[in-house]
Amino acid sequence: MAEAVKVLIIGSGPAGYTAAIYTSRANLSPVLYEGIEPGGQLTTTTDVENFPGYPESVTGPDLMAQMRKQAERFGADIRSGMVTTVDLSSRPFHVVVDGTTEIKAETLIIATGASAKYLGLPSETKFRGQGVSACATCDGFFYRKKDVAVVGGGDTACEEASYLASLCRKVYMIVRKPHLRASKAMQQRVFNTPNIEVLFEHNTAEVLGDESGVTGALLRKNDGTEMKIDVSGFFLAIGHHPNTEIFRDQLKLDAEGYVKVEPGTSKTSVEGVFAAGDVRDPHYRQAITAAASGCIAALDCERFLLR
Ligand code: NDP
Repeated sequence: MAEAVKVLIIGSGPAGYTAAIYTSRANLSPVLYEGIEPGGQLTTTTDVENFPGYPESVTGPDLMAQMRKQAERFGADIRSGMVTTVDLSSRPFHVVVDGTTEIKAETLIIATGASAKYLGLPSETKFRGQGVSACATCDGFFYRKKDVAVVGGGDTACEEASYLASLCRKVYMIVRKPHLRASKAMQQRVFNTPNIEVLFEHNTAEVLGDESGVTGALLRKNDGTEMKIDVSGFFLAIGHHPNTEIFRDQLKLDAEGYVKVEPGTSKTSVEGVFAAGDVRDPHYRQAITAAASGCIAALDCERFLLR
């Protein structure tokens, strides 16, 4: 028989754990399923220096472990497991975990996050967290006065390159096309920044490094010629994809697949289903904004249950 749950939280990043802290303190006995990457994207970063309350910084894994512990302190039931299917056609919602465990959830808080896209090179995977990063705002500070590369030609890549240019000595933008996809304003910003060099029609063949981390990248031009750049940071800005596959056709999503919410709230197109964190936010994508939206989802959920 399916287990009855009042509040089911899917996802274990800052949004999911914050929702668990708030709903457990409200005596709603939340159950949280962690998914395939317990702790979420922050567990792949090293030092987090911009989360308020940690003047000496904290590592991503430690921050997530502390959020988890805080949720457990108030009785949140945190379980490992991956939600494999959901049926949102009637309430309580029918949810299946790992293809076997059935749950009837009165309310649902979706905090499944988004995943940065990577090129898929083995060398890129090897140096992830050791010079390879998909978040300049998070990690750019570690490359002050050094040379770095940013892959991508969209608005994110231009924004990240501009941000990095204010900290770093030189920024290479590695762009596979002969032009940028970004808005004209962002392009101008890049072209007007003297320490950004745009390498059009280049692809990354390999990220180079040693035991200290990234030391460079081997690039291949579309005409087949190769060149090597010396960089200590290698940033990916080739887009994110929200983890919303299981909700497709059941919830209103935007063109990129992010969950649509009623402005100023966490309410989705289905009553009793709330969304928090990167799964509904293609713009800010910070731990602190995800945590804040987890709080909003918990409060919306609590009010819904009190109706
Ligand atoms: P985009 O999809 O717009 O751009 C991705 C970029 O990465 C493109 O240049 C693409 O190249 C390149 N790319 C994709 N895959 C690869 C690959 N395998 N190898 C090399 N390059 C690759 O993503 P963004 O994250 O930049 O933007 C997402 C959305 O958010 C957009 O709508 C954007 O406008 C918006 N945004 C707005 C901002 C603002 O207004 N301030 C800031 C940031 C984002 P190609 O062009 O060849 O496809």
